[in-house]
Amino acid sequence: MSVLTIRVFGDPVLRQSARTVTDFDGHLAQLAEAMHTTMRAAEGVGLAANQVGVLKRLFTFAAPDDDGTLRHGSVVNPVVLSRSTEQQDGEEGCLSLPQLYYPVLRPQQVAVEYQTLDGQSDTVELSGFLARVWLHEMDHLDGVLFIDHLAKHDRQAALKVLRERALAADEDPTKAVSLLPPMM
Ligand code: ZN
Repeated sequence: MSVLTIRVFGDPVLRQSARTVTDFDGHLAQLAEAMHTTMRAAEGVGLAANQVGVLKRLFTFAAPDDDGTLRHGSVVNPVVLSRSTEQQDGEEGCLSLPQLYYPVLRPQQVAVEYQTLDGQSDTVELSGFLARVWLHEMDHLDGVLFIDHLAKHDRQAALKVLRERALAADEDPTKAVSLLPPMM
């Protein structure tokens, strides 16, 4: 199974809304499997389809729950049913914004309705880090990045780093990793 190219900040696909999945076929399962492979290779805890250049409402995850048990799977067409007013603060990073980590405030708990790869509907209640991962990935499906949630000071610092990287890539095209076509 091939590893897909992860799109990085500056690629317009990261700012687009993904479309509802209607075909629960072999192509969807293959995409999810390739995304799991890509996520593992990048040592990520979650990966949204936008991040590999595909505008489908699908993400994969592999992250510990509150008991430390690793949970993993593929989530299709997720919809948030409710969020707790209680919040959690924690460092967040993103495979599309390499080496940037900032604290992001998220709901402590979230209830989500979603579909499985074969189209079955299910609901789940998540808390802690797992809730954070799912919310981060659901944001991707709406073209939202974690830096959009930052306090003004952190957001300005993050954008400065990203601008400097873009300038460095202009001067040395070998550093321009953001515009590589996907390997599929
Ligand atoms: Zn991300």
